[in-house]
Amino acid sequence: MAKKEFQAESKRLLDLMINSIYTHKEIFLREIISNASDAIDKLCYQSLTDENVGMKREDFRIHIQSDPENRILTVSDNGIGMDEADLEKNLGVIASSGTYQFRQETGKDAEDVSVIGQFGVGFYSAFMVADRITVITRKYGADSACRWESEGADGYTITPCERSSVGTDIIMHIKPDTEEEKYSEYLEEYTLRNLVKKYSDYIRWPIRMEVTKTRKKEGCPEDKPEYEDYKEEETLNSMVPLWQRRKSDVTKEEYDKFYQEKFGDFTPPQSVITISAEGQVSYKALLYIPGRPPFDYYTSDYERGLQLYSSGVMIMDKCPDLIGEHFGFVKGVVDSPDLSLNISRELLQHDRQLKLMAANIEKKVKSELERLLKEDREGYEKFFKNFGRQLKVGCLNNYGAKRELLQDLLLFYSSTEKKLVTLQEYVDRMPESQKYIYYAAGENVAMMDNLPQTELLRERNMEILYLTDQPDELLMEILREYKGKELRSAVDGDLGLDDLPETKEKDEEAKDTFAFIKEALSGEVDEVRASRKLKTHPVCLTSGEGVSFEMERYFAVAQPEMGIKAKRILEVNVDHPAFAALDAARTADPEKAKKYARVLLNQAKLIAGLPIDDPSGYTDLLCSLWN
Ligand code: ADP
Repeated sequence: MAKKEFQAESKRLLDLMINSIYTHKEIFLREIISNASDAIDKLCYQSLTDENVGMKREDFRIHIQSDPENRILTVSDNGIGMDEADLEKNLGVIASSGTYQFRQETGKDAEDVSVIGQFGVGFYSAFMVADRITVITRKYGADSACRWESEGADGYTITPCERSSVGTDIIMHIKPDTEEEKYSEYLEEYTLRNLVKKYSDYIRWPIRMEVTKTRKKEGCPEDKPEYEDYKEEETLNSMVPLWQRRKSDVTKEEYDKFYQEKFGDFTPPQSVITISAEGQVSYKALLYIPGRPPFDYYTSDYERGLQLYSSGVMIMDKCPDLIGEHFGFVKGVVDSPDLSLNISRELLQHDRQLKLMAANIEKKVKSELERLLKEDREGYEKFFKNFGRQLKVGCLNNYGAKRELLQDLLLFYSSTEKKLVTLQEYVDRMPESQKYIYYAAGENVAMMDNLPQTELLRERNMEILYLTDQPDELLMEILREYKGKELRSAVDGDLGLDDLPETKEKDEEAKDTFAFIKEALSGEVDEVRASRKLKTHPVCLTSGEGVSFEMERYFAVAQPEMGIKAKRILEVNVDHPAFAALDAARTADPEKAKKYARVLLNQAKLIAGLPIDDPSGYTDLLCSLWN
């Protein structure tokens, strides 16, 4: 009988498990029981459409048996079972998602096992307490059984064997006690009962174990009672899923614990949302807004969806139709007795009931977010830091009612309030004379506080939304307006301020110099004109109406072939000494004046976030001015 090797990654994790000094070794039981429960879910689901299964709901159970003398702990189930190929696939390799997450989260310090229990490391965790594991299993539909056995890292064997019925026994040979670790605890009734309560209380299937009880001996006199121990099988878990219990009967700790265990997140959730709906479709839902984004949230690996149950039987692990992409961060379970179980999982997508539930769930999530925004600003900001980008992307990808729903949930940094504000708050503060909602984009707040283009607005203490997140500026372009107020770039556009001094005279006075600059820049700018917004800086570039610089940058990456370019208007502060110097040089030393013109253009480009075509040429140019 040849021994097979574990796959490399599994072996590594297995080593960790075997040599683990992890203090919560007890989680192995939860993992093994969850696997048993999943296996029963699968067979139960099968039984709904397949009469040959021959089992009723109440027949399913998980059984724990302890044999302290031989140091053997067995967890049995009458679930779907495994055949040789399944064993090879499932127990020869650690579930790839689990491994991935494990590696992602622990990084180079994978040897630090203190975090093991926070991940669904599954079956292998049994090696923390057992030095040999035997799995006897018979798959539904197969007429023979298999025996998988392993003593850890050096491999496993699979041989044929007997098992009278469908299901799986996980037989764990518990390690000998050491000075630090009393492994025999895991064979004690008391410990096992507590562990089931602690970790597996909501498992939907009865977890049965023979327990010792005491009773009065029969036939002994009333006044001299004698007692005896006897054994009786008992169901250890309460089985009532948390979402079926009344909200008032459940503590916040219970809700949080359920989330953390079920979704493998060691951060408690930010919000808990419960729904109990009756009507066109009856269902219960228990939803969570995570306290931090899952490690893969902003990647294509992330799979959104809520877990869907029909009367306590899980029918889909991640049902994306229950939650829109814009709220894709929401996790939770939805349980409805109304769902037609006989339809296939694919068909489920088209179920009208699902749509009704999804619409209601969206409403509830939105009101929870609005509640946070109103009542717990700090909490909302934390949420926004985690998932705000998802809301923004939702705004970009949707229109109509959905966009309106989302835009009220957005936050932007305000130049005057010095904190994050909503568009509504901005509009509420706007003086009557102000036409537009202003925004400016840049790397960070400090940089925007120094932007020459925003100087005038800042001097007048007018509020500007500072955009620092990548989708922000495009978002503004797409939204265009909020509650009838146009969103306008404080950098590119006309600020719409009526009381600015006219520049016509200045334009007229400097006409020749502007023509000279335009000529010197040989067509690189479309227009040169006197600035109305610059105060202390010499120049800036604006794009005027139409395509903005942000759009230009966006399309340069997204669709370069379109060659979309913003108009380039060089605005000059004619009161600045730099302009005076250029003007003087124009007659005294035209070559130098041309160089000045180019320096000014490049300065303006830098500030606008546009690339300088020839950086080394530019530095040469600057140096040449010293001559
Ligand atoms: P995970 O449960 O995260 O997938 P595990 O390592 O715990 O990872 O288990 C690997 C796989 O082995 C499971 O996905 C399941 O297919 C199979 N498995 C484990 N225990 C059982 C069982 N009692 N009955 C049937 N299949 C099982």
